[in-house]
Amino acid sequence: MDATTAAVLAGFAGVVAGVLAVVAVTYSEREQHRVPADSVPPSALPAGAGDVLAVLPSSGIVVDSADAVVKNSPAAVAYGLVRGGELVHDELRHMARDVRRDGVIREAELELARGPVGRGHTVMHARVAPLGSAHVLLLLEDRTQARRVEEVRRDFVANVSHELKTPVGGLALLAEAVLDARDHPEAVERFARRMQVEATRLTALVTEIVELSRLQVADALHEPRLVDVTTAVVEALDLSRIGADAKDIELVESFEPDLKVFGDEDLLVTAVRNLVGNAIAYSEPGTRVAVGARRAGDLVEVTVADQGHGIPESEQQRIFERFYRVDPARSRATGGTGLGLSIVKHICANHGGDVTVWSEQGRGSTFTIQLPAADDRPDRHGTKATP
Ligand code: ADP
Repeated sequence: MDATTAAVLAGFAGVVAGVLAVVAVTYSEREQHRVPADSVPPSALPAGAGDVLAVLPSSGIVVDSADAVVKNSPAAVAYGLVRGGELVHDELRHMARDVRRDGVIREAELELARGPVGRGHTVMHARVAPLGSAHVLLLLEDRTQARRVEEVRRDFVANVSHELKTPVGGLALLAEAVLDARDHPEAVERFARRMQVEATRLTALVTEIVELSRLQVADALHEPRLVDVTTAVVEALDLSRIGADAKDIELVESFEPDLKVFGDEDLLVTAVRNLVGNAIAYSEPGTRVAVGARRAGDLVEVTVADQGHGIPESEQQRIFERFYRVDPARSRATGGTGLGLSIVKHICANHGGDVTVWSEQGRGSTFTIQLPAADDRPDRHGTKATP
């Protein structure tokens, strides 16, 4: 759900909650001024409450003095909060009883079991209020997704701090070593070179963290332009050539002409470059890395195939997670940050595409980027597709 939809829904839920609150207050007042004791049965619901609950997008439940559910919105059943005319969760029953006892509105964030079996749970924000003298109203908003996003963000910050500590700690130690070795020029030079390596690693890490954060914020590209995929792939290859030559790895290219997508050329260069960089880093000298681009139906496919050590099947989905490495020592030795594939995944997603991997240990890996093709061919009216 995007921010606007969330805001609209939140607004709508607020309005509905407001209406229910007005109904509740009006009902309370009417109860207070009720002269003939039995003109309104104590168990009767305020007029309109049922109609409001029927259209409430979030979970709304009204219970009577015996904790029996007298009305609920459809979502309350869908979320497993109401079953057989009763509240399923003790937590909600306790809140309702407390509110009934002293008439004070209560709010709480609860983790509620999703069903009778299994360990799944939903995070619900519950607001419980008296509804007249005989009833209690429970309004529940699903906060599971918001909580998950918050957890992912906290994990990310923790991982980033951990990852930054290594090069920063290394630099501090090396600076000390340089000071101690000030009378030995060769030692100073050796330590200074290692400082350069750590500083380069730090720069790469910070650049990738910033890039990833930027990509995660934007769900889609703001101003997609028509990009020639072959041009982007050729540029990525040019940027990778020095690394390939240094390891005596041959880059083999095969491109179809006229492959166009809507997107951001710089991001596509980054994606392909990350894949080619990995193919080189995780292959032995003297092997080949084949990079191809072709049209496949409505998609443009870019493949990067290596003859490296491959990736165990059990790890093939996890490698797209941030900071996940199959062999952390090897990744560090190659200057890896553990963010490269996560960045590729986000770039593809932002372009409406995907990245997948085929790999066999000992044989190599093939990464495939698939992006929706932009038809740049003239259509029936002779006009070209424009961004
Ligand atoms: P890194 O910076 O560690 O390379 P990535 O996100 O790019 O981080 O890749 C995650 C992990 O996936 C790597 O640490 C490596 O274990 C594995 N990996 C990625 N590409 C390849 C490849 N072409 N061959 C073998 N393993 C790979």
